[in-house]
Amino acid sequence: QTLLVTGANSFVAGHIIKLALEKGYNVRGTVRTEAAAEKTKALFPQHSSQLSFTIVPDITKVENYESAFSASPAVTGVFHVASPFVFDVEDNAKDLLDPAIQGAVAILEAAKKYGAGKVRRVINTSSFAAIIDIAQGHRPGYTYTEADWNPMTYDEALKADSVKAYCASKGLAEKAMWDWVAEHEEAGFDLASISPPWVFGPHVGGVETVKKLNESTALLYKMFDAEKVPATDFAGFADVRDLAFAQLAAFEVPEAGGQRFLVGQHFDYQSAVDAGRELVPELKSRLPEGNPSYGKIEETYVVDGSKASKLLGLKYTSLEESMKDSFIELLEGEKRA
Ligand code: NDP
Repeated sequence: QTLLVTGANSFVAGHIIKLALEKGYNVRGTVRTEAAAEKTKALFPQHSSQLSFTIVPDITKVENYESAFSASPAVTGVFHVASPFVFDVEDNAKDLLDPAIQGAVAILEAAKKYGAGKVRRVINTSSFAAIIDIAQGHRPGYTYTEADWNPMTYDEALKADSVKAYCASKGLAEKAMWDWVAEHEEAGFDLASISPPWVFGPHVGGVETVKKLNESTALLYKMFDAEKVPATDFAGFADVRDLAFAQLAAFEVPEAGGQRFLVGQHFDYQSAVDAGRELVPELKSRLPEGNPSYGKIEETYVVDGSKASKLLGLKYTSLEESMKDSFIELLEGEKRA
């Protein structure tokens, strides 16, 4: 069986690919450039015969996926990971909303057009951003589940700040996918969607440099030598290895078809620095102390990731372990760059 993974060079896809290869699947990754394909291939030297790449320069163009689906062995599962995840943007439509939404629909169209009869399921990497109603703030006493949707519209997102626009891009892209599968039963595959809050944990192969990090890892690195512990922005996280486990399980577990999963647990920066200062001796003097009880008393919404445990068999990695591994790879990255 071959699994197609879009955005194969990303932090998140790295772990999906790693787990899929270890489980014996063939993986075909899509990336925008030859250089990204080479770099990603180099991460999996023991699995080179199972791993191939297709260059998809524009994820919004259905025809760009033709060769990705037509190569053999046939693609049976699609993991859609590619989506703009940047906050430094000039134009919310061009840089965030349009590629996310049109890219999400294009991969479904391509799976139908070029993978008909072979593709069984598409697994979308959505986000807690697609679930949270940011206007409600920290919302003490509220529990977010898969029943919740980010209510921001496309028009509202055009004028919003980039964090809100990114969140809307994930919600609108996921909605577009559910609408598409509802209208295309003849496509012969179903959809599962996974929504993690901040994704932390180590990168496959480590971080190349701390000078250019993906958005979520950059948040942890910003705390090195900082004076203050940041206030909570989003009160949830998923370890990247848990996310990959949930993604593969969402492909393999029959009942996961047609389901959304919130894969996440509580997060706050105080708990992150507490864990780093305690578990990584080199960081004791480099992470701000803050107020070690703050994380425990701060009132925020609850992120309920229990459906993924029940249906997908996910056992969550602790915040302490995830932070320890994240911080250690950042220290190693510092030595490299
Ligand atoms: P990365 O920045 O590592 O990966 C983003 C990926 O998307 C890259 O492969 C990138 O390709 C691709 N991409 C971005 N914009 C475009 C575009 N316009 N056209 C084609 N490809 C594009 O971040 P993550 O690994 O963290 O993100 C992967 C996925 O996980 C995204 O869908 C993101 O929304 C989701 N997610 C991440 C969370 C996190 O905290 N990390 C939280 C929740 C969801 P290129 O390298 O060529 O730019």
